[in-house]
Amino acid sequence: MTQRKIGLTGGIGTGKTTVSNYLAKTYKLPILDADIYARQAVEINSPILNKIAQRYGTEILLSDGSLNRQKLGEVVFHNNEERIWLEQQIHPFVRQRFAEEMNKLPSNSTVILVIPLLFEAKLTNLVTEIWVVFVDEQQQITRLMQRNNLTIEQAKARINSQMPLVEKCQKADVILDNSDSLESLYKQIDAALTS
Ligand code: ATP
Repeated sequence: MTQRKIGLTGGIGTGKTTVSNYLAKTYKLPILDADIYARQAVEINSPILNKIAQRYGTEILLSDGSLNRQKLGEVVFHNNEERIWLEQQIHPFVRQRFAEEMNKLPSNSTVILVIPLLFEAKLTNLVTEIWVVFVDEQQQITRLMQRNNLTIEQAKARINSQMPLVEKCQKADVILDNSDSLESLYKQIDAALTS
């Protein structure tokens, strides 16, 4: 048997965490999270953080030497070239961490890889199937505004900075439609897992 490696992705705030929490709690599946590895990539004194500080100056750091994420976010949000440079530093590290963690798991296990930028970061070859969590755009905007305390313009800007959700759905093996209740979402997850 080979590992069943489910790549869980979607748009910002569409429900990836809600799905992975359910899979962990109900099915006790191991969850590997790209966001955690991306944070490890830029830990204090890490080689990548040092490169970032060389490129943007120490003003990109907070007084304790950790990364000023908000400042870096402002740099890359407005500058595509810099965003690409940054991703080239971080994505190989994330890929390596996934490989390490999957090696620790039994060869016949099912594992969930939560990767918000699965397509953008070209990490699809890490997984054996792709699940996309979808919500209709109106719901996505509403939930994002509520959860992150954003204006409608801010919510839309974040959504529009990503690959369109419909495009992700076209590349999915499974689409989980999270536009309705949690109960409806959980039923779809149960079905997808046993299929
Ligand atoms: P991010 O991309 O920011 O990491 P995410 O894809 O992990 O977000 P969640 O954090 O799971 O998304 O969900 C976003 C918000 O929507 C949360 O506040 C969550 O509680 C809420 N939410 C998720 N699913 C539903 C649902 N079916 N009904 C109502 N609220 C929901």
